[in-house]
Amino acid sequence: MRCSACATILGRSSGEERRQKNQVKITLEPIGDVADEVMKKLKDRVGGIFHCPLEIRAGSSDLTPAYDAERKQYLSSKLLSALGKAERQERVVGVADVDLYVPRLNFVFGEADVLSGTAIVSLNRLRQEYYGLTPDETLFLDRATKEIVHELGHTFGLGHCSNNKCVMHFSNSLADTDLKESHFCNMCRPKIIL
Ligand SMILES: [Zn+2]
Ligand SMILES: [Zn+2]
Repeated sequence: MRCSACATILGRSSGEERRQKNQVKITLEPIGDVADEVMKKLKDRVGGIFHCPLEIRAGSSDLTPAYDAERKQYLSSKLLSALGKAERQERVVGVADVDLYVPRLNFVFGEADVLSGTAIVSLNRLRQEYYGLTPDETLFLDRATKEIVHELGHTFGLGHCSNNKCVMHFSNSLADTDLKESHFCNMCRPKIIL
């Protein structure tokens, strides 16, 4: 029986009902132009790490309020707050294919807002072509997955991890991102409650 007002007091839901009710859902939301194919591949990869329901939801296509013409970049925090607040037991990750910044930093790969359960990542600097190198789709998807999982980790309350193989390790550069794996280390994983 589902009753948001008294489910806890009744305490009669079966273990399965409780599990479903408490199950976290992750929503990926393209912000601006992001190829459907890329979103689908990222959904599969992120799903392989979290093993919870994942969906792709149509996002905002208007990035102009966040654009800084002088920097030719988009203000990350503005796009992040435009995602709104995630529902209870939900985490929302905006995926943008533009360059993001926050004041005092040249750029950011991503940003998370723990209180609202939302995060944003940029795909812009994750492609080899950005650096004049030969395209490598697998590497691009690996990097994007790590960035998404990392920011999701923050929304689940995790801080940065000193293990340089752990996805929660702080990436100063793409070399750091490439060195780490796309999953949580044995210290971080138990802290995530799905
Ligand atoms: Zn971080
Ligand atoms: Zn860790």
